[in-house]
Amino acid sequence: MIIDTHCHLNDERLIPHAERIVQDMQKDGIEALINVGYDFLSSKQAVDFANTHDNVYAAIGIHPDSSYTDCSEGNYEKMSILSQSEKVVAWGEIGLDYFRLDDPKTPPKAIQKGAFIEQIELASMLGLPIAIHMRDAIEDTIEILNDNSMFLGNGFVMHCYSGPKELVKQFADMGSYFSFGGAITFKNAKRNVEALKEVPLDRLLLETDCPYMAPTPHRGEMNEPKYISLVAEKAAEIKEMEVDKLIEITTNNAKTLFTRIKRWKILFMNTEIVYI
Ligand SMILES: [Zn+2]
Repeated sequence: MIIDTHCHLNDERLIPHAERIVQDMQKDGIEALINVGYDFLSSKQAVDFANTHDNVYAAIGIHPDSSYTDCSEGNYEKMSILSQSEKVVAWGEIGLDYFRLDDPKTPPKAIQKGAFIEQIELASMLGLPIAIHMRDAIEDTIEILNDNSMFLGNGFVMHCYSGPKELVKQFADMGSYFSFGGAITFKNAKRNVEALKEVPLDRLLLETDCPYMAPTPHRGEMNEPKYISLVAEKAAEIKEMEVDKLIEITTNNAKTLFTRIKRWKILFMNTEIVYI
């Protein structure tokens, strides 16, 4: 079964559907979900939801878009306490987004970089891997990761990777995992598809990033975790392998990076020990 390593059931569009989505996970072939925070409130909500639902985990972090408003010592302290829940498996999504720098609401580069570095250090202190968002900011992302490589020992993932294929090796050498979502099914997805071809199988993860990025033929609709099977099928086609094999590998990769999923299953879900 598949692990959706990056979804936003805490998004206001998905909140009304979250209970139904979790109830249908088994039927939809989904073993686990990681509900990812992007500011303080969505992080808290992700943790509360994970704490009360089986097979739902949380990542907490402050997205670059919210770095102005949410990156405060007080929030970091509260989030560090939240991270003590065994259901918190990663710190993220954090990173750099230079897509709309001319929009006054977008935090300037210096603020984004400061927030990124602070959170890389914090994740390291808390023993958590990192989920990284990178948009139009390749050079600065690489520089920050290189300068802070001593804090990357718990691993990290480039989420919704759309960087050029030439950089896959560079990120992989730094220890990166790469997750791919609905974008690989789009007609104009050449860059993503080429990158996916380069990604080593033992570093590959699947995600939906729902409610965004619904795969073809649902492009433009609200995305949901159930569509991750379409992502898996497309990824298997690109990697020229059986879809069941690709799912087995990516699920194992998710448990290797997000070690608390594995630990949770050992501690609390004896019936699933077979997966470990
Ligand atoms: Zn996301």
